[in-house]
Formats: sequence, structure tokens, C-alpha cells
Amino acid sequence: MAKIFCVANQKGGVGKTTTTVNLAAGLAKLGQRVLMIDLDPQGNATMGSGVDKRELELTVYDVLLESASIEEARVTSQKLIDAGCGFDVLGANRELAGAELELVDLERREKRLRAAIADIDSQYDFILIDCPPSLSLLTLNGLCSAHGVVVPMQCEYFALEGLTDLVNTIKQVHAHLNPELKIIGLLRVMFDPRITLQQQVAEQLKDHFGEKVFNTIIPRNVRLAEAPSYGLPGVAFDPSAKGSQAFLAFAEEMVERLKRW
Ligand code: ADP
Ligand code: MG
Repeated sequence: MAKIFCVANQKGGVGKTTTTVNLAAGLAKLGQRVLMIDLDPQGNATMGSGVDKRELELTVYDVLLESASIEEARVTSQKLIDAGCGFDVLGANRELAGAELELVDLERREKRLRAAIADIDSQYDFILIDCPPSLSLLTLNGLCSAHGVVVPMQCEYFALEGLTDLVNTIKQVHAHLNPELKIIGLLRVMFDPRITLQQQVAEQLKDHFGEKVFNTIIPRNVRLAEAPSYGLPGVAFDPSAKGSQAFLAFAEEMVERLKRW
């Protein structure tokens, strides 16, 4: 049975997609069988995993509307396999933006992804879900499917302020829809050690939340930002870059953490 994690934070531009694709690539590099599910209509995680969202015949949209299974809709990028970190992708494109409205009147609307995953989860060690920057029905489908949530956050003064809504949503989902769900950890991303305030916030987060904060810190690194334009996660595009090394360390930390879970 796969361990299933959502990467969520309702703020945009905080590093969710970068975290999802690089963690997927890092875990694959460690020999783990990984499925990455893109739940954002922007399709950035799809493109960043070497899959052209415009050429997909079937996407997570078809899976949510139950007109295709994950087995039918998933794809794998040869580029990723060649880079030694191949993982399967259930992609998304703009079509997914319509799903929100179409799902509203359907039965089991929050649990459609969960049902689809149940058919294939024995084929994977990890399933990672990249969520959109909202607490929408799409994100809800992700949260209902997962064992845990990974929350990427920048070490800024107001970093915690936006988290209240996410934490409340997770509590609600835990209470009413998915009793297994918990926050597995906060991941400090886009870290710049030259900025004293970031150092202070990074330390405060660790002091305050302890085990709930991952030990690995992801630095701000231009190679991670360049990689998507080559259709690759940084870990595959430039494995020696500082940011890629950090994501590999994070993948190892995840595997270690799960042994104690
Ligand atoms: P989200 O999915 O939360 O909207 P992204 O992962 O797309 O956020 O990141 C937002 C932008 O920041 C992207 O352009 C991405 O390439 C860049 N970025 C993310 N993490 C890093 C990092 N550690 N170093 C440098 N740039 C980063
Ligand atoms: Mg994103």
C-alpha cells in the first residue's frame, strides 16, 4: 500500500509544485515507485515532470468524472526515465478548471480521487498530490485521498498567518471525511541564509513545532527555477545543484520518517 501525501498551502507561489516534482524525482532516484498526481488546472507539475499537458488525451479530470481510470490516464516521461528518476504522472490541464463546477452536483464529490487511487495504490510506494492554491473541491479531493499533508512554507514574518485556514480545513476533513489525515510536516523552502530574518524564522519554526518541521531546508536556488523550462524537476535537470541536493536529502528524510510512522 502506497503512502499518499498532499503538498498543500492555499497561497500561490510558495513552492508546492517545485516540492512535489522534486520530491517525486528524489524518491524515484532512491528506488521508490512513485505516482505524481497534478490537481492544479495550471498543469505546472505535469509540465515540470516532462509531460506536455496540451498533448494529454486523458487527465485527472477524466478520473474525477469517472470516465477513465488512473491506469488508463497515467503516463511516464522518457526524459525522466533517462535521468534515472522515472515516475508516473496523472496529469492536469485547463480542462480541470471546469471539474469544480461539474463535481458540485455529483455524489461522493470529495471522494472521487480516493476511490480511483484505491484501484492502483498497491502498485506504488508513494503517491504525491500537487494541490492548487485554494481550499477548493479539488484540494478537498486531494485531502480526502491522503494520509498526510506536506506544507511548504517560506521563512517570512507572516508565514504562519496564512496557515490557519489550511489547518482548519485539515481539521474539518479529519473530523468528517478522512480520519487518517494529519499534517506530516512543514517544509522550509526558498531559504536564503544571508537574510537574518529568514534564519530567525526558520529557527523559530523548528523551536515551536519541533518534529512537525522537517530537518531538511530547501535553499533558494536558481537551478530549481530554471528546471521547469526544460520540462524536468531540478533533481533530474542538475542533480549536483544545491537545491537538488536538498530535495534528495528531503526524499531520504521522508523515507526515514516513514519507518517510524
Ligand atoms: P506553487 O506551486 O506553490 O505556486 P511553485 O513551486 O510553482 O509554487 O514556485 C513558485 C516559483 O518559485 C516558481 O517560479 C519556481 O520555479 C520558483 N521556486 C520554487 N522553489 C524555489 C527555490 N527553492 N529556489 C528558487 N526558485 C524556486
Ligand atoms: Mg503550483
